Amino acid sequence: MTADFVPCTDADSEHFRTAIIATLGPASWEESQLERLIDAGATVFRLNFSHGDEASHARTLQRIRAVSKRLGVPIGVLGDLPGPKIRLTDVPQGGIELQTGGRVVFVRGLDRAEVGDDEIRLGCTIDNIVGDVQVGHRVLIDDGLVRLVARCLEGDRLVCEGEGPGRISSHKGVNLPDTDLDIEMPTDRDRRFASWAIEHGLDWVAMSFVRGADDVRSLDAHLRSCAGTEGRPIPIIAKMEVPQAIEQARLIVDEVDAVMVARGDLGVEMDLALVPSIQKHLLAVARDARIPCIVATQMLQSMVESPAPTRAEASDVANAIFDGADAVMLSGETAVGAWPVESVETMHRICRITESTMRSLSITTGGDLEAAASVDMGPLEALVDAAWTAALACDASCLVVPSRSGVHARHLSRNTFHLPVLSLADDARVVRRMLLLRGVTPVQVERMPDRASLVSVADGLVRQHGWAEDGETIVVVARDDEVDSGARIIVHRIGEGGF
Ligand code: PGA
Ligand code: MN
Repeated sequence: MTADFVPCTDADSEHFRTAIIATLGPASWEESQLERLIDAGATVFRLNFSHGDEASHARTLQRIRAVSKRLGVPIGVLGDLPGPKIRLTDVPQGGIELQTGGRVVFVRGLDRAEVGDDEIRLGCTIDNIVGDVQVGHRVLIDDGLVRLVARCLEGDRLVCEGEGPGRISSHKGVNLPDTDLDIEMPTDRDRRFASWAIEHGLDWVAMSFVRGADDVRSLDAHLRSCAGTEGRPIPIIAKMEVPQAIEQARLIVDEVDAVMVARGDLGVEMDLALVPSIQKHLLAVARDARIPCIVATQMLQSMVESPAPTRAEASDVANAIFDGADAVMLSGETAVGAWPVESVETMHRICRITESTMRSLSITTGGDLEAAASVDMGPLEALVDAAWTAALACDASCLVVPSRSGVHARHLSRNTFHLPVLSLADDARVVRRMLLLRGVTPVQVERMPDRASLVSVADGLVRQHGWAEDGETIVVVARDDEVDSGARIIVHRIGEGGF
């Protein structure tokens, strides 16, 4: 029988949270605003390279670093590469009204839209539209509000017909769900900003409009050559927003460090009614691959204008968390909205209360050890499952994991049993990258503990954070550096010794 519902207070959930990513823009990129967003619960900021130049992003980054230092909290920075996002060029003030059946012609190299006697002529930021779009393909403008179908190609002109009425205005996005664009990925702009991201020590790059694993491999090769390193110098997040990517999801997750359910473009490229199912599917695929998953776009959309969200938006954020999202993202709400701080506060409150409810009702995500063990399990997975088994059996208060590269923390966070995981690293960048992991609180230490000091360091840290008191049990998982591939799980009672 279902238990009575007991409303949760959020007071006890300080340490256990879903990451909140806030996109920066004019509404939020000043120092005082950044500070308020962090106080409100933002843990990661997104620089959107679709807008602005290197100099303006450098200024924002400098402010983020200054605030993070002043507050003494790690703040992650994600650089979002625009990919082949197509936009209209200028359209005369007030826009152009399109009638059903109206003729719309895309003209190569046109800087400004024109209205002729019997046609509307439009230009695009990417000229491939004339050439790659085939007769019968859909051309969707402004998130699909204006719908066209390609009718014929006349030299440098692609002739389309309006499927319904609509208003066409400047710089609106254009989506081509049926067209395979002959564009090299990453684009030149992506390459430029990717190397900027490496130079400036960003924590992740997100790749927009990924079509398949090959696109990711090309970006990866570019990143390695920029940095001159053998390994990948910065983690890659694949933004899942076109049908090809959804089909290839399992191949893509093998190549990336995290995925984003980019519902904005996804909802234009595919039937909107499919988006919730795709979101659940991608969360499951990411969990199986043991990488984090971000749910993005329009989560609190009405807060761009209003100080409170709709009931549906509150449910959307909560359901993403119930389904196991590692991070939830704000876009326009914090970049250009009227209520950026309130948006983060609202999201944070929904996260805390939802996590708290999940704890009290024992709802776990990926939390079935038997099921977890039935999927492909290597030594690392086995270690992590054993650590969870020990923690649950001993009624531990938390787990502690020294994680030099973040890999152990990442694997631990795939099973969330409502016990906080404290991960330590000596590298500030690794600490910031672990911010994306659900249930994991990263802490920077000056030096990684050695074999002899491990338990006392862990003991000290959990006391300091108030996560366990004398007599309570913690579980420490550590790779044993002295034995190449070995590892240890230590069950420790605070204030006493191991047993
Ligand atoms: P964007 O990506 O905001 O860069 O378009 C997110 C999305 O499409 O949902
Ligand atoms: Mn997008």
